[in-house]
Amino acid sequence: MIILVINCGSSSVKYQLLDMKSDDVYDILAKGLVEKIGLPEGTIKHKPAGKEGFVRDLPIPDHKIGMKLVLDALVDPVYGVLKSFDDIEAVGHRIVQGADFFSGSALVDDDVLEKIGICCDFAPLHNPAHLLGIHAVSAVLPDVPQVVTFDTAFHQTMEPYAYMYALPYEYYEKYHVRRYGAHGTSHQYVSQRGAKLAGLDLEHSKIITCHIGNGSSVTAIKDGKCIDTSMGFTPLEGMIMGTRCGIIDANIVPYIMKKENLTPDQMTDIMNKKSGFLGLSGVSSDARDMDALAKQGDRKAKIVLKKLTFDIVKLVGGYIAEMNGVDLIIFTAGIGENNPHLRRRVCEQLAYMGVKIDTEVNEKARGAETILSTPDSTVKVALIPTDEELVIARDTMRIVSTIEE
Ligand code: AMP
Repeated sequence: MIILVINCGSSSVKYQLLDMKSDDVYDILAKGLVEKIGLPEGTIKHKPAGKEGFVRDLPIPDHKIGMKLVLDALVDPVYGVLKSFDDIEAVGHRIVQGADFFSGSALVDDDVLEKIGICCDFAPLHNPAHLLGIHAVSAVLPDVPQVVTFDTAFHQTMEPYAYMYALPYEYYEKYHVRRYGAHGTSHQYVSQRGAKLAGLDLEHSKIITCHIGNGSSVTAIKDGKCIDTSMGFTPLEGMIMGTRCGIIDANIVPYIMKKENLTPDQMTDIMNKKSGFLGLSGVSSDARDMDALAKQGDRKAKIVLKKLTFDIVKLVGGYIAEMNGVDLIIFTAGIGENNPHLRRRVCEQLAYMGVKIDTEVNEKARGAETILSTPDSTVKVALIPTDEELVIARDTMRIVSTIEE
């Protein structure tokens, strides 16, 4: 089944075209990125498998035009990989927020669209863009079934004591204020792959997944189900990230707003886009820049890197206690997959309980499934590259196959 996977941001469309023969047998036919939608000069970067791609700069006024560019690239006589649009059998979309409406992926219909719309309130940067993406696909491919996969769905197994904030209960009832988590597709995928690689029975296992990238979250997974995760009502909660502050004392928010005369939107922007590595270092949101600066002796970058380890260790330690043990710790995403120093620093803090990694294996391991722990380590440690597109393509294939029967 030829499936187009779409990840729509407010000014971007990331795409991947997969030929799914089965859950585990598939080819990636093309991938690419449309950026700066709505700005005077946009860009499309298209890379077909096995041949040269292209980068084009041109104005892309809206998502519908962005989506048309993607589809045109896929059928382009030189750079394309399909004969016609009709070859696309289904489209799968990544959706950041599904709240407690969705505990799994769903076929797009009016009811699903309405619920994604309600969730816009608590994912104002993401869900409206996802809806634009779905409508843009409907406009160009009206007869192709669309499936939505939610970043929050995997975390729907959390118990009320894990997902409730100790605020007046009425805010949960009136405004859906509770913890939802994020990166669920990634946590689910790497825990399944990791259990296989480590020879564990997922249904009887205790796994901690550390998705450490520009956005970062850590999840406790018991018997294959999420029992706790570090992101909350929005992806802001939890640990330090590229531009997000993670957990802070909530009283800081009105305090700074009053001192700086800020509106709620301005404060939200500061906490989500101007904090984290960027806010603390004052230079960059990128972990590679933090490493380079720290090597030159930059004090603030050193604090950032120490805090990154510190926050992960606190979460991992807490989750070990919550699960009364752990069998496997997994690192994934941009930093987790590529930064051996961070993995080593985290594991060193767990040496007291017998966690041992092979430093040589760890040093070399980058972006490929690898067991990092030594055979005598009490806990297995693994690097598992995440693949959210594959999960979306699998779910899309499964759901669309059912409707066709
Ligand atoms: P993500 O959001 O998962 O794409 O992760 C982005 C983060 O991963 C950035 O902070 C990058 O500095 C970091 N990252 C990506 N690739 C590498 C790499 N090859 N080496 C070190 N860090 C990397």
